[in-house]
Amino acid sequence: MRICVYPGSFDPITCGHMDIIERIVDMFDRVVIGVLQNREKQPLFSLDERLGYIRRCTPGYENVEVEAFDGLLVDFARAKNALYIVRGLRAVSDFEFEFQMASMNKKLYPEAETVFLMTNTKYSFLSSSMVREVGRWGGCLRGLVPGEILPDLMKRLKNSL
Ligand code: ADP
Repeated sequence: MRICVYPGSFDPITCGHMDIIERIVDMFDRVVIGVLQNREKQPLFSLDERLGYIRRCTPGYENVEVEAFDGLLVDFARAKNALYIVRGLRAVSDFEFEFQMASMNKKLYPEAETVFLMTNTKYSFLSSSMVREVGRWGGCLRGLVPGEILPDLMKRLKNSL
């Protein structure tokens, strides 16, 4: 059984994340979306909010599981019996950090492979921080975040000012 972990902050989930998820559900038998709990930088959305938004966007997928994790990604991947770690790449600027992280994870968990998926070009400019910034000032997020959470997210972000 091919199991992958797709880790991230998902603060909040965007159409760019969804695009990756839609592609990996067909590539793997099981997809575990791992929502990172502890970060030096405080996320805008609480862990429960981030998990909730992702769950609301992925109800139709039988092989998707959404879970929080803390600590080392490799420990989480091992606990999930995942031999694949999925990451998205948007621009050259993503590469340096992703390369470092993949190399370190290879050292810590040699059996696992990091798999990179190129962004869908229409989402190459899209990030959670952009969504937070646009939403905070009342900009329309249609097409940037999944429709299931669009109204709630826009309301929530406007109130985050
Ligand atoms: P992190 O803080 O760990 O990078 P994010 O929630 O920002 O967490 O992103 C999680 C993963 O999704 C990362 O691999 C990131 O590159 C990828 N990703 C984010 N936005 C996009 C996008 N627009 N297109 C493709 N991949 C994306």
